[in-house]
Amino acid sequence: MSDTIEKVKCLIIGSGPAGYTAAIYAARANMNPVLYQGSQPGGQLTTTNEVENFPGYPEGITGPEMMIQLQKQAERFNTDVRDGWITKVDFSGDVHKVWVNDTKEIHCDTVIISTGASAKYLGLESEQKYLKLGGGVSACAVCDGFFYRNQEVVIVGAGDSACEEAHYLSKLCKKVTMLVRRDEFRASKIMAARVQNTENIEILYNTETDEVLGDGQVVTGVRVFNNQTNEKHEIPATGFFVAIGHKPNTDVFKDYLDLDATGYIINAVPGTSKTNVEGVFVSGDAADHVYRQAITAAGTGCMAALDAERYLAAKDAGFEVSTSTYN
Ligand SMILES: Cc1cc2nc3c(=O)[nH]c(=O)nc-3n(C[C@H](O)[C@H](O)[C@H](O)COP(=O)(O)OP(=O)(O)OC[C@H]3O[C@@H](n4cnc5c(N)ncnc54)[C@H](O)[C@@H]3O)c2cc1C
Repeated sequence: MSDTIEKVKCLIIGSGPAGYTAAIYAARANMNPVLYQGSQPGGQLTTTNEVENFPGYPEGITGPEMMIQLQKQAERFNTDVRDGWITKVDFSGDVHKVWVNDTKEIHCDTVIISTGASAKYLGLESEQKYLKLGGGVSACAVCDGFFYRNQEVVIVGAGDSACEEAHYLSKLCKKVTMLVRRDEFRASKIMAARVQNTENIEILYNTETDEVLGDGQVVTGVRVFNNQTNEKHEIPATGFFVAIGHKPNTDVFKDYLDLDATGYIINAVPGTSKTNVEGVFVSGDAADHVYRQAITAAGTGCMAALDAERYLAAKDAGFEVSTSTYN
């Protein structure tokens, strides 16, 4: 083995709530975890101002502040938190090989993947401006809907998640205008029917976003256009929700792990964090297309560390380990 290859008992990829929670549990179980932060230290929550639904913060907390606290908690138990991006893996043998920034090679007994998923946005300059300002653009109705109680909002999207989110918003907001690009929903009939039958949801078909409007600080409306007639009009709104899907950050694992059609990692044994490769576990949004919350990511981070610890214990005890033999 070359001098440049490092041996690690537990490698954690990602520094969101899933990665740091896995680190806290793994470190306290003497697994000496090494955690790579990736290009977004702290993960998705660093892009939001207020987090009001993570238990333990009665007054709420900003996303960046919360993630610094999680990092400190992981470091308190000696997690080795490092800067770096995993560019390549080889999960074909007993030892799991991982490369950092295309150069450093690490051999791991266990790997916990916590690489998250990125929300897709339309890409309009005005959308990105108010997203960065925290001024009324969001990709998560469950996270941010509460801030728009009794107000008028616009949501873009036509799939099951968009319908779910529009319906969620309809229970909080005065009015929800839903922009559907085609003349029909992509969602299942039952989900489409749910929004079609909700009184305070107005659906505009063949309609796309032209511009998110605002006063320089916060969103005040949305200019839309009908893609059949090119007619434009403005909709007053204080919130603009984008529900056009997520992209899991899992490309680097695709040659070894079972992924679904969107790229989410499939749990080999439902209700656990196990993947189809022994010793490789997944937590957080990288495997979750349903809940996508910080608390569920943290919960599955805990599961992944416990599964990894039990896997190593079974292996050390000389048992033949397969995805179903250690629990
Ligand atoms: C704007 C916004 C507001 C939100 N508000 C809330 C809220 O109020 N409450 C709530 O519960 N949830 C909220 N969410 C959802 C929440 O942020 C996510 O569910 C949660 O962050 C998922 O955690 P995770 O650890 O799985 O992944 P993420 O937080 O996405 O972290 C992924 C990590 O993986 C790293 N990474 C990715 N690929 C690699 C690689 N190849 N090598 C190394 N590192 C890699 C990234 O750098 C990052 O650190 C919000 C999301 C957004 C976008």
